[in-house]
Amino acid sequence: AAENVKASNVAKIKVVVRKRPLNKKELAKNDEDIIETYPNSLVVHETKLKVDLTEYVEKHEFVFDAVLNEEVSNDEVYRETVEPIVPIIFQRTKATCFAYGQTGSGKTYTMKPLPLKAVRDILRLMHHTYRNHGFQLFVSFFEIYGGKLFDLLSDRKKLCMREDGKQQVCIVGLQEYRVLDVETIKELIEKGNATRSTGTTGANEESSRSHAILQLTIKRSADGSESKPARVVGKLSFIDLAGSERGADTTDNDKQTRMEGAEINKSLLALKECIRALDNDQGHIPFRGSKLTEVLRDSFVGNSRTVMISCISPNSGSCEHTLNTLRYADRVK
Ligand code: ADP
Ligand code: MG
Repeated sequence: AAENVKASNVAKIKVVVRKRPLNKKELAKNDEDIIETYPNSLVVHETKLKVDLTEYVEKHEFVFDAVLNEEVSNDEVYRETVEPIVPIIFQRTKATCFAYGQTGSGKTYTMKPLPLKAVRDILRLMHHTYRNHGFQLFVSFFEIYGGKLFDLLSDRKKLCMREDGKQQVCIVGLQEYRVLDVETIKELIEKGNATRSTGTTGANEESSRSHAILQLTIKRSADGSESKPARVVGKLSFIDLAGSERGADTTDNDKQTRMEGAEINKSLLALKECIRALDNDQGHIPFRGSKLTEVLRDSFVGNSRTVMISCISPNSGSCEHTLNTLRYADRVK
């Protein structure tokens, strides 16, 4: 039973790779699938040129907690990644699920259905296992763009962050909605995602430069009644990270693009360092490295769990980005 799932039985850090299928464009170009998958490992077949310009293939092997190939459904992704951590957020645990990878590798496709499935399970636990315990579920959804915070459930209202000195992060003015049923969350996710991808300029490209953060928070008042103020018990965060290749936009001609690239690069490096510090049980976690890690500060201290889903494109044209993504995931592990 769910209440018997102990946090100590759930790995602190889990790294999973998801490979998407070749798309129509890639198929039309006869682009090759260079990723060979196994349940816990994969091999990248990189075509290289010798000095005499003849081709040869270099193989790169990586081992992870799980490798999900192009035939794996979103339901199976949920079961492998988020489902095991849902019960423990009722037990004073904070958990975070990241989608990492280059633009077009399937981060949003992977991340978008996960909160909905999690809410379904959370509500089930609240209504059955934890009936009359007085737990309440809340959702918020915001993005970090160029180091600034915007509320995705409030027309991209600009937000600022404050620390309360007790390792709690407070985002001033962030809308938080009570979730009583699956329909509510469905609408809010749609709304937030639409706000995100159109942004203010309507440029679709913008979403690849922002981190989108959806947080589910479980609260409860001291005596479990609805009338007293509720305190945070646990949190489950879903983070659709900026395109990893954007971190390399630091030499672009456009100054704005360069600045955003530098910010993304900084945040992805800081994230890696924080997860590594968590894994090594280091007392000091370097949150201060970026806005992203500062915002997630309360999810990095105390009892926390992290799931990293590294999304990869299968085509030969993405080989370099794919290797970068896999090396990043390898370092996190
Ligand atoms: P990202 O968010 O990383 O930029 P997307 O999630 O938008 O990438 O995916 C790019 C395209 O590939 C979308 O059209 C998406 O529907 C498709 N796609 C991604 N992953 C899969 C998958 N596993 N199966 C089928 N289509 C996928
Ligand atoms: Mg996306």
